[in-house]
Amino acid sequence: MSQLLNDDREFLWHPFTQEKTNTNQLCIKSGNGPHLFDENGKQYTDLISSWWTNLHGHCNQAIANAIFKQSNILEHVIFAGATHFPAVDLCKKLKTKLPNELCKFFFSDNGSTAVEISLKMAYQFWRNSGQFDRKLFLNFNGGYHGDTFGAMSVSNTSGYHNHFNDLFFECKTVDWPYTWIGEEHKNIEEKEKIALNQLSSILCKYGKSVAAIILEPLIQGASGMRIVRGNFIEQVVKQVRKYDILVIFDEVMTGFFRTGKMFALDHISVIPDIICLSKGLTGGFMPLALTVVQKHVYDAFYSQEKEKTFLHGHSYTANPLGCAAAIESFNILMNSDTQNNIQKICKLNQEFAIKFANKTPIIMKVRSIGTILAFDVDHTIIDMLVLKCLEAGMLLRSLGCTIYILPPYCISENELIMCYEKISALIEQISI
Ligand SMILES: *Cc1c(COP(=O)(O)O)cnc(C)c1O
Repeated sequence: MSQLLNDDREFLWHPFTQEKTNTNQLCIKSGNGPHLFDENGKQYTDLISSWWTNLHGHCNQAIANAIFKQSNILEHVIFAGATHFPAVDLCKKLKTKLPNELCKFFFSDNGSTAVEISLKMAYQFWRNSGQFDRKLFLNFNGGYHGDTFGAMSVSNTSGYHNHFNDLFFECKTVDWPYTWIGEEHKNIEEKEKIALNQLSSILCKYGKSVAAIILEPLIQGASGMRIVRGNFIEQVVKQVRKYDILVIFDEVMTGFFRTGKMFALDHISVIPDIICLSKGLTGGFMPLALTVVQKHVYDAFYSQEKEKTFLHGHSYTANPLGCAAAIESFNILMNSDTQNNIQKICKLNQEFAIKFANKTPIIMKVRSIGTILAFDVDHTIIDMLVLKCLEAGMLLRSLGCTIYILPPYCISENELIMCYEKISALIEQISI
């Protein structure tokens, strides 16, 4: 065992990890483009973009330089009572890519805090508006919104937080009618109808007590890349709007072209009251998040009355280094090379999704949206598959029975094709 691994074993405790059975800890020494390199120089293609954060590859020079440059100008300053160029510039840029209605930006550090803030804003919005009995939240089965208490409460059916169930605030939960390639049209419609009926009976009973609904637009990430049709989300929003319920889109995973468009909301014809952004925001370089709201949400807090203030903030709110990274990442994202690459990945995914779907019964429920491709395999082979992929130089992580590929946008077409072919061959090899 290497010294690094030894010391890690002695001092560290890793996220989402049972340390006792954790036998294949990677020792990553460096990164470059879509690749990571371990202590022995072995190369891995980062097919999961390091927990969905990385957009332009590891150690992108332009982003690295932007952070370095900013660190010599202003590394950090308290964001209550002060402002700075990187924060304002970033929000002005993002504003141009968002629907006009989403116009007020609140910074924090990660996806969970962005969600926590959205929930607190929604809750206080109603109190500030004099409606003190709007206390309930609506969510979807399998939805995952983060690991802090508010975020956990609205993720109560994700299966990640069962130990804490007793401490959660109350949510009303609706089915998530996810679908895949080849599923019969009749089935999909039936599932959607059931979910919409659940929603309408919840609304009948509790509609006027609901503060907000939260959902991952189009695709639930952590519960296994589960895709619903855009029209379903539109129907949901239409229904809840009848009760003036605030709509929160958690775009922490879907933002920044993961679904093939800048935001998942660009696929659908409704505009949420609040969206949450993080993961890809800085291109995977720095922890940073935004909760963006419509003006009418902001206005409920805008007052001479001190009690209406939103009393929330973190030490590193709007960290200038994070903002500088995000600005540079945004510029790279918008240039034509990146846009072309994204479209190439989307097209390849569509092609391979169909290939996978027609391949063997071992590959199940194939689905794809934008730069994400996913499928299920039997639970008896999934750990072995992930391990074999790792040995073959491809970094993957499973979600339940689901294997998914969500690469950095700088990956070459050839490399992605090769990865898909290698994964496909490994699946056949293992399942004989
Ligand atoms: C990852 C994720 C979160 C939590 O973000 P963290 O940065 O890990 O706290 C919230 N919502 C969604 C949809 C996510 O995918």
